[in-house]
Amino acid sequence: STASRSKLKIGLIPADGIGREVIPAAQAALEALGSDIPKPEFTHLLAGFEYFQRKGEALPDETVETLRESDCALFGAVSSPSKKVTGYSSPIVALRKILDLYANVRPVVSVADTPGGKPAVDLIVVRENTECLYVKQETLEHGPHGKEARATRLITERASRRIGRMAFELALNRPRKHVTIIHKSNVLSVTDGLFRETVRAVPALEDGRYDEVTIAEQLVDSAVYRLFREPHIYDVMVAPNLYGDIISDAAAALVGSLGLVPSVNAGDTFVMGEPVHGSAPDIAGQGIANPIASIRSAALMLRHLGYSKGADRIDKAVDEVVREGTVSTPDLGGKSKTQEVTDEIVKRI
Ligand code: ATP
Ligand code: MG
Repeated sequence: STASRSKLKIGLIPADGIGREVIPAAQAALEALGSDIPKPEFTHLLAGFEYFQRKGEALPDETVETLRESDCALFGAVSSPSKKVTGYSSPIVALRKILDLYANVRPVVSVADTPGGKPAVDLIVVRENTECLYVKQETLEHGPHGKEARATRLITERASRRIGRMAFELALNRPRKHVTIIHKSNVLSVTDGLFRETVRAVPALEDGRYDEVTIAEQLVDSAVYRLFREPHIYDVMVAPNLYGDIISDAAAALVGSLGLVPSVNAGDTFVMGEPVHGSAPDIAGQGIANPIASIRSAALMLRHLGYSKGADRIDKAVDEVVREGTVSTPDLGGKSKTQEVTDEIVKRI
């Protein structure tokens, strides 16, 4: 429980590319909180594609073991090789599986023009993280056999139910308390049908707990269309892995830059913050990556652990800096370095 911790053990896994530039910024924000959270104790951990190229493995046992003894973690980004590399598989996908981080929670919020004003976009994408088309063990992607290649995906009642429950829980704590189920069950009636029916049935299992939550559903293609035309209709969007990935990148475009959007990978016993963006090889090493997605991921991690006061302080400082716009990285049209934006946010925290 939150009250009983005297220290907060945080594993830091910067991994590749700009992950190494933005995770230190998140660390600095957490350190600036002082007594609003238990004293953070950071451990620096190795993983990633560059590590794989040096050592022949992407995720050393020691990293996993240390994470198992930690309260939470922050992950930077991994480079994905454009072609299949023998012996390599993504450490972030593996970590989600090993630590059973079955939900990827991505709030997409625009910064309002005035302090306390209403943001134009204020939604959360809740993406299923363990199955569908993305997870090696569950996915049979094979070929090409001659001119054919094939992939099979898995959708289970168990995974759909727990991601549904996560979506309803998050909705309960939001003013609008509205869940939209994203699927394509007019075409994929068996797999998406199972997802949709299972999520719809969650409130009935919980005996009145979700009575205040309203439910809608939307086919994924029309959901993307409406997301761009009328983003305000969405509150919590819950989706299988593939659609959740696409929808959240699309939603990120609505708020200006991938460099602003945080996420957490959450399970029942562990939470790992991770910016939605990747390793951004095009700008890596230049000191100009936007650290805000990572800093907000640290705040979101705190929120999931129950430290909302600390999370609010970080988010408020970020909001101020974004709203003023004088210190910002090139992705937002500014000229500032990662370090300058970080310093400005830390100063305000
Ligand atoms: P990966 O394979 O690791 O996902 P990618 O090439 O897809 O790498 P992303 O990290 O997903 O790259 O980024 C997509 C685009 O957004 C790139 O042009 C990148 O420079 C930009 N971008 C992503 N994150 C940031 C950030 N934090 N600050 C500034 N620009 C960013
Ligand atoms: Mg990418």
